[in-house]
Amino acid sequence: MNITAILEEIYTEIEPYLTERRVADYIPMLGRVDSNQFGMAVCTNDGDEYVIGSAQKNFSIQSVSKVFTFAMAYELLGQSLWKRVGKEPSGTKFNSLILLEQEKGIPRNPFINAGALVIADILMEHYKDPYKEVLKYIHELSGNPNIVINEEMKKSELDYANINYALTYFMKSFSNINSHVPEVVDFYSAHCSIEMSCVDLARAFRLFSQAGKNPWTGEKMLTKSQTKHINAIMMTSGLYNSVGDFAYRVGLPAKSGVGGAIVGVLPGEMSIAVWSPGLDANGNSFAGIKALELFTNKTELSIY
Ligand code: GLN
Repeated sequence: MNITAILEEIYTEIEPYLTERRVADYIPMLGRVDSNQFGMAVCTNDGDEYVIGSAQKNFSIQSVSKVFTFAMAYELLGQSLWKRVGKEPSGTKFNSLILLEQEKGIPRNPFINAGALVIADILMEHYKDPYKEVLKYIHELSGNPNIVINEEMKKSELDYANINYALTYFMKSFSNINSHVPEVVDFYSAHCSIEMSCVDLARAFRLFSQAGKNPWTGEKMLTKSQTKHINAIMMTSGLYNSVGDFAYRVGLPAKSGVGGAIVGVLPGEMSIAVWSPGLDANGNSFAGIKALELFTNKTELSIY
């Protein structure tokens, strides 16, 4: 299969979709990003890499970071993690408050904001310096020690984080948050403000395409079952209330972020990262979904 040629075709076909879309502007600094950018990177388990467009350009990974924090917390707690967070799709917007009251402060899954805030709280309980630990984990997986938190982005997010504070205080009232709420929201906003490129993300996500093995050393970081669980939750909750449409069109477990990234895996084969900041109404990259759909159609690869 000629992946280079396929990426070139995708780049040509995607161009008309890059204009008119809006970037996320509820975080002011994200609102300043140029919407007509596009990059894509593929890493196969054999060690081959393919890139197109702005694949090396750094952007705010936003909710893609939730996969890393969830994997860290799952490695720490195992099955007991599920006492504090569920594993069902929410069918609601990523920062929705609606289900939390009915479900007594237990978020539906680790990828909606409420769930990721609980995961942030868990990491804060376990690590003296969770900020450092998350970066260390991402450096190790991506092989890039220069990845950092963009402090200006974090500040911009914190200035408009009322919903995230509300979610966290609400969960604290059900005793599902142990640390101080402002500190949990600060740490959560910090990991969302990490900047990476498509190449960094595709390299790091080989953890999930290679059954939990460290992409560089081959050392086992997650068991096969844990990797299956993480991929399953990406499949059912990785794109919020458009998981059904995404499964139908793309057919890969994946995670999106409002910075415009979507990172997917074909277990046993490859990881794929795409970035384009113009979003659809659900907060997912519009051209990113389209590019992944073209990729799985052209390669005839999908988990289904
Ligand atoms: N940091 C963003 C927020 O909390 C993450 C949202 C996202 O990428 N879906 O709103």
